[in-house]
Amino acid sequence: MSIAKNLNTIKATLPEKVTLVAVSKTKPESDIMEAYNTGHKIFGENKVQEMTKKWEELPKDIEWHMIGHVQRNKVKYMAEYVTLIHGVDSVKLLKEINKQAKKYDRQIPCLLQVHIAEEDTKFGFDESEIKELVSSDEFHQFENIKITGLMGMATFTDDKQQIKREFQSLNQLFQNLKSEFPDLSILSMGMSGDYKIAIEEGSTMVRIGSSIFGKRNYQ
Ligand SMILES: *Cc1c(COP(=O)(O)O)cnc(C)c1O
Repeated sequence: MSIAKNLNTIKATLPEKVTLVAVSKTKPESDIMEAYNTGHKIFGENKVQEMTKKWEELPKDIEWHMIGHVQRNKVKYMAEYVTLIHGVDSVKLLKEINKQAKKYDRQIPCLLQVHIAEEDTKFGFDESEIKELVSSDEFHQFENIKITGLMGMATFTDDKQQIKREFQSLNQLFQNLKSEFPDLSILSMGMSGDYKIAIEEGSTMVRIGSSIFGKRNYQ
């Protein structure tokens, strides 16, 4: 198996408007460098400490995306450098990101995570909460945050129709909000197992790990 080959093969199939986030969580820096040396610069991690260590040690032109659930007390470690936070799932977290971003005088791009899956283990706002949030006064006070889109994860199932329906509902919400907030441009949906369906249903950003780097070993 070659990481470079996997990456290039997947990239060749993606429509031009779809951005690939290479999900490198749990993988060693040598694997990331193999991908980086093909010219790829966008990587996703789901643990702040692991991402920060990699940021410190790897080339500085890498764009680091936080794709996992974020604990508020960890935001300070990535506020200096993170390129996009995908999994923003509470107002408390928005407040903390805003506060930490201010310290670096930057505006951190964030996606609001929407709960579309059947499982209740997945984090995120539901549709009515998102609508309420974006129309609240509070929401527009976060000067050091730029909400650039939505992120969602489909149910972990073999039922392709269900996955399709869930991605469709997220895209519908995205299109609705976009008519009101034209700055929204990113719809982050799709992983190794379901990114083709996600792209058919309007994804503009896919997060692919195992199909590039191989299976993860979590021990
Ligand atoms: C791990 C992870 C991915 C990538 O999963 P693969 O199935 O390995 O492609 C995508 N998104 C999130 C939020 C993840 O945690």
